[in-house]
Amino acid sequence: MTDISSNISRLRSELPSSVMLIAVSKTKSVSEIIEAYNAGQKYFGENRVQELLDKKDHVPADAEWHLIGHLQTNKVKYVVPFISMIQSVDSLKLLNAINNEASKVNKVVNCLLQIYIAEEETKYGFSMSEIESIINLKGLDGLKYVRICGVMGMATFTEDFSQVRKEFSCLREYFKILKAGYFNSETHFREISMGMSGDYKIAVEEGSTMVRIGSLLFGERNKNKPV
Ligand SMILES: *Cc1c(COP(=O)(O)O)cnc(C)c1O
Repeated sequence: MTDISSNISRLRSELPSSVMLIAVSKTKSVSEIIEAYNAGQKYFGENRVQELLDKKDHVPADAEWHLIGHLQTNKVKYVVPFISMIQSVDSLKLLNAINNEASKVNKVVNCLLQIYIAEEETKYGFSMSEIESIINLKGLDGLKYVRICGVMGMATFTEDFSQVRKEFSCLREYFKILKAGYFNSETHFREISMGMSGDYKIAVEEGSTMVRIGSLLFGERNKNKPV
């Protein structure tokens, strides 16, 4: 049996108090989430909209939800009203869709720009030059209902920890460049979301402000289920 509550306290005591712990509860049951909640965990991460919608009403309302997986524009309207942060913003089209839906409910939505740092082929995430050209071309000022709070990234899934460290350090440099060049006066641009069960220690050493941890808290996910 996984002792979720003691896993949370152990991890919490290890992390600097300035680092936010996002408990990644994808594929896990409502009762497991509530066990974490009762242990004082307030922030949860899910990567699929439907699964998130199915679970959230069964969890106390002051739990905060972070979307960490690719979001299709046609599903934006379902999450905008309650989501605490969308960490996985990976296109201008998605930014526009979030802004549009958020304006309808008069809410400013916290977002992170997901930046591609890994060597693996992946479909999602901005490149740094894409972000800079979006900002230089049109700026993000028109997006009044979107609050860009920082960046998110995932390192290559590898045992080569020097590679992982290099990628996290690269994300931190991207953050610094964006902060200095475009978000200097914006105090809410301060988050670097990086680090998962296998690499969070390196991420914290490299300046992470948010770690997204699933299996280390809740136990291994069922590999047969989609994640
Ligand atoms: C699943 C997932 C995590 C957590 O992974 P673990 O290795 O179980 O800690 C973190 N971030 C994202 C984007 C994920 O999809």
